[in-house]
Amino acid sequence: MTVSLQALADEIAGLRPRMERVSLALHGRPETKFEEYHAQQVLTGWLVESGFVVSAGAGGLDTAFVAVHRGRAPGPCVAVLAEYDALPGVGHGCGHNLIAAGGAAAAIGLVRALPGHPGTVVVIGTPGEEMGGAGKVLLAEAGVFDAVDAAVMFHPSDRSVSTQHALAAAHLRVVFSGRSAHAAKSPWEGRSALAGVQVFLNAVDALRQFVPPTARLHGVVSDGGQAPNVVPARAAVDLYVRDVTTAAARALVERVRDAAEGAALATGTRAETTETGPLYAERRDSQVLATRFGAVVRALGLDIGPDAPDSPAGSSDIGNLSLLLPVIHPYIQIAETGTPAHSEAMRDAAATPFAHERTQVAAIGLARVVADLLTDPELLAAARAEFAAAAAPAR
Ligand SMILES: [Zn+2]
Ligand SMILES: [Zn+2]
Repeated sequence: MTVSLQALADEIAGLRPRMERVSLALHGRPETKFEEYHAQQVLTGWLVESGFVVSAGAGGLDTAFVAVHRGRAPGPCVAVLAEYDALPGVGHGCGHNLIAAGGAAAAIGLVRALPGHPGTVVVIGTPGEEMGGAGKVLLAEAGVFDAVDAAVMFHPSDRSVSTQHALAAAHLRVVFSGRSAHAAKSPWEGRSALAGVQVFLNAVDALRQFVPPTARLHGVVSDGGQAPNVVPARAAVDLYVRDVTTAAARALVERVRDAAEGAALATGTRAETTETGPLYAERRDSQVLATRFGAVVRALGLDIGPDAPDSPAGSSDIGNLSLLLPVIHPYIQIAETGTPAHSEAMRDAAATPFAHERTQVAAIGLARVVADLLTDPELLAAARAEFAAAAAPAR
């Protein structure tokens, strides 16, 4: 059993007006991590209408969902992932409205073109990707991916690449505790937590020359005290520590902890370093599936290939999934080259007809990969073999 690319493309073209409405509904009402109730409702509504059986609040996350379409014969279970959280302030500056609408369109288009498919098509709504929410990690820990053989998604960008490495990232909060006092009458009675923060950030800057060039250390002062005339008893920094592997990021976290301890000692304060969420692991794309996706997208007229291994990268909770099962996370250009991610320009680009044109192409590419995984045992076997080889310990 198989389905032609034309049949998939035709179904998804028919879904385009609805896909665009869903995308714009999410874009116009941005919700940040774990607050995505409106997005969940819009997406699950469309999937239920299309014959999927939906469980909202999957894996113990209120704004997650699992939408299942069972086929007529046993077979693999393939997931299309939908992210739909926005960023504080900037809204959908990461374009997750397109990921969600395009992912749903891919799955719905596929089951319409191939109603008698074997196996299971599942759309998994994975909330809280931004701000270290780690929705996918929490869902995996809750067992939501246990029966899933492979997972696919795409991400909007200012360029198109079929694979791209991503950094491991730890999400730290360093809280300094001191002693408050009147800042003019008796400052010597106080111990400034803000001074602890200042020394700490200088220590982190002093580290920079002595960390690998692949590392990234960046953060904000999330609490700098309350009033200029009070010696701050509490101050805090939220800091990300990234490097190419989980082990390298972990090693750097220890040096950052030491920097916090040193700053506390120097300022007579106490420092407490915690992780605000799970570490995001490095990404290991399935080359087998990414190659298939790339070939389809190129056949549709969009130039795409693998990214250079040393190009700048961010981090995502898809990395953790990529160490559990074969996944793809290609990028599709929806904005002018050079448009920064997480910017107002990217947010505006994520609502244009061009972005929806490209999302339609991405949806066809994802639908093709899912259809092939369900109907071509050799493709799944190749993806599994590649995954097993990459997961095997190096000798
Ligand atoms: Zn983002
Ligand atoms: Zn994103």
